[in-house]
Amino acid sequence: MSRLANKITVHHTAGNYQANATDKKAYHYLIDDKGNVTKGVYSIADNMDCQDRKYAAHCGGNNTKNIGVAFCGNKEFSEKALTSPQPLTRIQLEAGFKLLAELAIKYDIPVTDQGIFTHYEYDQKKKKPEGKIDLIYLPPFPNVKRDEVGDFIRGKVRWYINHFDGKFTLV
Ligand SMILES: [Zn+2]
Repeated sequence: MSRLANKITVHHTAGNYQANATDKKAYHYLIDDKGNVTKGVYSIADNMDCQDRKYAAHCGGNNTKNIGVAFCGNKEFSEKALTSPQPLTRIQLEAGFKLLAELAIKYDIPVTDQGIFTHYEYDQKKKKPEGKIDLIYLPPFPNVKRDEVGDFIRGKVRWYINHFDGKFTLV
């Protein structure tokens, strides 16, 4: 069987801690500030074929076989001050890293910058970046610089994979 997915893009919603209808259409998985994980409207299989309009459009130009995972929050995020009235929380981020690990195991996705990357990282590789800022700052880890966030996340994902007890709890 061909794999349902071969990559994951990590986002924020730039909205509230609670996902709205638009958020749920855009991403396959959403994580709130308490670390609760919910599924979006479209399934991962829906993104195998993006010729139709029935898929999660979370990563412009790169949605096929791409799982969209979003942290709910970062509303009105200031790129200069690196603040938001709804900043991402530690429990939320850790739940997300664990979710990414379970997805990587389940779908056999490599933990590399080709397999799991932030929307920011993808955007930076474009000839003309659109200015995506998800994710460039993780409030509980303020020493991680914007160009290190992707590597930091992949390091966390590797930790959760190494500590996986064989039970999928989030996917
Ligand atoms: Zn995004």
